[in-house]
Amino acid sequence: MSTNNALHVAVLGGDGIGPEVMAPALEVLRKIEATSDLKFRFTEAPAGANHYLATGKSMPDATVRLCDEADAILLGACGLPSVRYPDNTEIMPQVELRFHFDLYAGVRPARLIPGVPSPIVGADRRGIDLVVIRESTEGLFASMGKGVVTDTEARETLLITRKTSERLFEFSFRLAERRKARGRSGGGLTCVDKANVFKAFAFFREMFDEAAKRHPDVKTERLYVDACSALLVKRPWDFDVMVMENMFGDILSDMTAGLIGGMGMAPSADIGDRHAVFQPCHGTAPDIMGQGKANPTAMILSAAMMLDWLADKHGLEGATEACERIERAVDKVYADGIKPMEFGGRNGTADIAKAVLAAL
Ligand code: ATP
Repeated sequence: MSTNNALHVAVLGGDGIGPEVMAPALEVLRKIEATSDLKFRFTEAPAGANHYLATGKSMPDATVRLCDEADAILLGACGLPSVRYPDNTEIMPQVELRFHFDLYAGVRPARLIPGVPSPIVGADRRGIDLVVIRESTEGLFASMGKGVVTDTEARETLLITRKTSERLFEFSFRLAERRKARGRSGGGLTCVDKANVFKAFAFFREMFDEAAKRHPDVKTERLYVDACSALLVKRPWDFDVMVMENMFGDILSDMTAGLIGGMGMAPSADIGDRHAVFQPCHGTAPDIMGQGKANPTAMILSAAMMLDWLADKHGLEGATEACERIERAVDKVYADGIKPMEFGGRNGTADIAKAVLAAL
C-alpha cells in the first residue's frame, strides 16, 4: 500500500467505450472513498490501439512500471478492429499484461441480477450465480504470435504446465470455499476439459483430481466442454465455480455473460500471485462508442471485485463491505427498473451511472 495508506490504483481507460465506462466506475469509487475509511490514489495511463496509432507501441514502458507498482489495475477495454499490427492481429495490451504479470486466473462471475432479463426460461425464478475461471496465460493462447502458417497448413500449439495448473486449481478451490463460507453457494467446483480426446486435457484433469484430494469439503464434478455447454444453457443454476483452459474459458465466459443479460453486465478479473487487473468482459464495442449507449455495470462491478481482492490480500474489512455496498447499489438500480439500451431499454451510460451513485 502506498503513502497515507491510500490504495494506489493504475487506471487504463483504453479505447472505444473503455474510457466511457471507466469514468462512472471511478465516480463510484470516489463516492466509496467519501463515505468509508478507504482512501484511493488513481493514476491514469495510456494503453491500446489509439496509443499504438500515435506511437507505434501498444503501451509505454511507464504504463507497465505503473501497473507493477500499483496495488491494483483497473482497465476499460483496449483494441480497435481497424488498428492492427503488420501480421493483422489486434492491439491487445490487456493480454500482454496477463503474460507479463503472470495473471493465470481469469475470474468471470456471471450472476443474474433480479430484474435483468435472461434468455434462459426459468432463470428469473431459479437464479444464476456462477464463476468461470479461465486460465489466462497458457492453453491455446500460449501460441499467440507463434503460430506457423504455410501455403498448405497452419499450426498452433496448446500448452498446459504443472506449475500454472496447480496454482490455478488451488485458486479455484479456495474461491469455491470462500463462496461457501459467505453463504453464496454450495461450494462446488467443475473441471471443464476435453480429457476424452486430448492427452493435454487428461493431464489437466489428473492435476485437478490431485488438488481435489487436498480440498475434500469442495464438491467436485468433471465435464467435457461440449456437454458442459449444453448443460449451461439448460440448467445454469446448477453451476457454481468452473475452471478451464484459456480458449474454452474465452468462449464459455462470453456465453455465461449472455446468460445474465449481456456483455455490459459481466465483470472480470485477471489475477496472479502478486498483481491483478480488473476489467469488464466486454471489448471496446466500436459499434456504439461515442454515443453514450454503453452499459457501465460490468466496469462498476469489476471495480467492486477489485475491492474484494484488495480486502482479501490486505485483510481490509472495509473493502469487503465497500464491495458489497456497490453490488447492493447495482442490484437496487435494476430492481427499480433501469433498462440499459444494451437490452432494448432507454437508459444509457449517464442514466445508469447516476442511478448507481444515487443508490450508493
Ligand atoms: P473483444 O474481441 O475485445 O472481446 P468484441 O468486438 O468481440 O471485442 P465487444 O466489443 O465486447 O466484442 O462487443 C460485442 C457486442 O456487445 C457489440 O455489439 C457491442 O456493442 C456490445 N457491447 C459490448 N460491451 C457493451 C456495453 N458495455 N454496453 C453495451 N453494449 C456492449
